[in-house]
Amino acid sequence: MVDNPHDTWHHERGLKDGEIMIQAKDVSFEYFRRDAEGNVVEVKRALDGINLRVKPGSFVAVLGANGSGKSTFAKHLNALLTPAEGVIYVDGKDTSDPGQELAVRKTAGMVFQNPDNQIIAGIVQEDVGFGPENIGVPTEEIWKRVENSLKSVGMYAYRESSPNHLSGGQKQRVAIAGIMAMKPKCIILDEPTAMLDPQGRRSVLQTAHQLNKEEQITVILITHYMEEVVNADYVYVMGDGQVRLEGTPRQIFAEPAELERWRLGVPEITKIAFGLHSAGVPVPMDVLDAEELAQWLLEYRKGR
Ligand code: ADP
Repeated sequence: MVDNPHDTWHHERGLKDGEIMIQAKDVSFEYFRRDAEGNVVEVKRALDGINLRVKPGSFVAVLGANGSGKSTFAKHLNALLTPAEGVIYVDGKDTSDPGQELAVRKTAGMVFQNPDNQIIAGIVQEDVGFGPENIGVPTEEIWKRVENSLKSVGMYAYRESSPNHLSGGQKQRVAIAGIMAMKPKCIILDEPTAMLDPQGRRSVLQTAHQLNKEEQITVILITHYMEEVVNADYVYVMGDGQVRLEGTPRQIFAEPAELERWRLGVPEITKIAFGLHSAGVPVPMDVLDAEELAQWLLEYRKGR
């Protein structure tokens, strides 16, 4: 890997320094645990010098095991938390500036892990309309946005349903529609699939990629699942409060030892590639799926 990969990545894509949706510079954050008298009894440094950049319109994954600091970082991206040290800019706005808090939250919408905590209304379309209503969007415009958002996440047919009757994946898509209806430039998904079955996981991931491609919404996907980062443009791997590895999914998957060091399960396909490699078959270590590996092996056999 190059010395300063995020800079190279940025410049390789023809970006000037001003064109950044999200920028974290040397961000640190500590949680304090206090006793009944208010004395600090424990300090946990949850973020320790995070540097990261997200280009407008890109799909960036933040990957990390439990306790690595992902959620703490996600909360910094819409000013639910602010850095103890360092600075975060969201579309050029400093999240630590109280005057910018509302603007930051309008720019970066957040979807959380548990859809049940995010859905408040008794009917799907009212739930989706709640956010825009809250920020003062005129009624007629609200209905237009509700319709478009529900169509984008494939939930328009359920507009008059009660959210109680939906599956976890469907609820999560309604939560995403609710954020979309506020027209953010950027959506942060904080482990959106952690409580879903495989079908729900797939539908939520597909929705996120579709919003990114079709609506040019910048997506930050926070996850502990390796296989969810395969189609991201760029991946930051967190371990113990720091960015430990970063690069394209291929570059990340080519470092299984480093990933295991930060308690991340390496996908089966990467293990197979690793095993073949060790047995003397020179397969590339960065294959992403079985089909790609099979193709390579066929070509290899032909060439022998
Ligand atoms: P992740 O989202 O990757 O699981 P978190 O950001 O939730 O990680 O947590 C990072 C570290 O901070 C962990 O060691 C966790 O125990 C600690 N932590 C998280 N929230 C709190 C809190 N409210 N008070 C004290 N420690 C916390």
